[in-house]
Amino acid sequence: MKTIDHFNFSGKRAIIRVDYNVPLNENFVVTDTTRIDATLPTIHKILKEGGSVILMSHLGRPKNGPENKYSLKHIIPVLSAKLEKEIKFADDCMGQDAVDLAASLKPGEVLLLENLRFYKEEEKGNEEFAGKLATYADYYVNDAFGTAHRAHASTTIIARFFPGKKMFGYVMAGELASIKKVLDERKKPFTAILGGAKVSGKIEIIRNLLDKADNIIIGGGMMFTFYKAMGYPVGNSLIEDDLLDVAKTAMEDAKSKGVNLYLPVDTVLADAFDNNAHKKEAQVDAIPDGWMGLDIGGKTCKTFAEIIENSLTILWNGPMGVFEMSNFEHGTKAIAESVARATQKGAFSLIGGGDSVAAINKYGLAKEVSYVSTGGGAMLEFIEGKTLPGVQAIDE
Ligand code: AMP
Repeated sequence: MKTIDHFNFSGKRAIIRVDYNVPLNENFVVTDTTRIDATLPTIHKILKEGGSVILMSHLGRPKNGPENKYSLKHIIPVLSAKLEKEIKFADDCMGQDAVDLAASLKPGEVLLLENLRFYKEEEKGNEEFAGKLATYADYYVNDAFGTAHRAHASTTIIARFFPGKKMFGYVMAGELASIKKVLDERKKPFTAILGGAKVSGKIEIIRNLLDKADNIIIGGGMMFTFYKAMGYPVGNSLIEDDLLDVAKTAMEDAKSKGVNLYLPVDTVLADAFDNNAHKKEAQVDAIPDGWMGLDIGGKTCKTFAEIIENSLTILWNGPMGVFEMSNFEHGTKAIAESVARATQKGAFSLIGGGDSVAAINKYGLAKEVSYVSTGGGAMLEFIEGKTLPGVQAIDE
């Protein structure tokens, strides 16, 4: 893996693709700086060696060119405070200003380019656009794991212009190392915990993990499609009727491959999709009409905890229930705590994908697990076994 540790940046300009797609409030103040914080070690390393840095990113989904609410100028105050430095800003990433500012950068200086997606060429992967960005620097660093699954100009195409001078930053290197630890260097027993709303969003992950995991735990809304496939009544629970065969096949494949596929034995039922609905626990083969399962039950939490806490490698993607509602968050919280306990006992645990990351943060356990991924979609595609264009472009 070629990383910034393999290069010396003295007197060199590095253009870094970062993921500064951060949330802003109505006054355009950054409300969560996690993604900015994550890139600081990469920037510091280059500046410390006497290099200069050009930062480029997207922010939001601008449709027709420049729009104030998507301007990266809003992140300058935070970035400047964190780096304790003035940040130069080019308000058009293709403008003459950008060319001149990049050319005149001195060692230790930082230039931020305006939102790349103000040009449709970025998402189209336009080669000319990528080529112009490439003229700004001597080295290309990709540190934006969150967009590594997109073949955009700044994430993938630009790498062509830097043969022998392209590399991963520390964010990318950390993400790739942790996923490799789980998928390729896993210590047994390896337990994958999958939850979330739908089977359809997770089926490729299940398929890929059937060749790697010792245990696959299934919770969340998708468990009911498995139960329906087994012939159980599921009431008003979330169901994907077109995936009954897929669920059946997954269960059969697990058996033939010797993978333990664990489904909940009990569930927390509600008579409406509402935090204040009436609720009760039931066995999963006895869900009455008019009720829906919104969480895993108490017995299940205990069984799952035992499996998780006896594992040495853990991958968790997707909540066990509707954890956004306080009356149906118990299962997700219990699983988060089990993953933390297993980690304390020596397991390597990776939390990937939007909602499980939100859950681990909600319960204040992010520091109690081995790695929390910053890239939702990119992480999912990686676990599905796909090659990420942004990663391939550096590896090639
Ligand atoms: P996903 O994006 O597929 O990981 O799904 C995450 C969403 O699944 C969360 O918003 C949860 O509220 C939802 N979810 C989890 N369990 C259930 C359930 N039993 N019924 C309906 N939605 C659920």
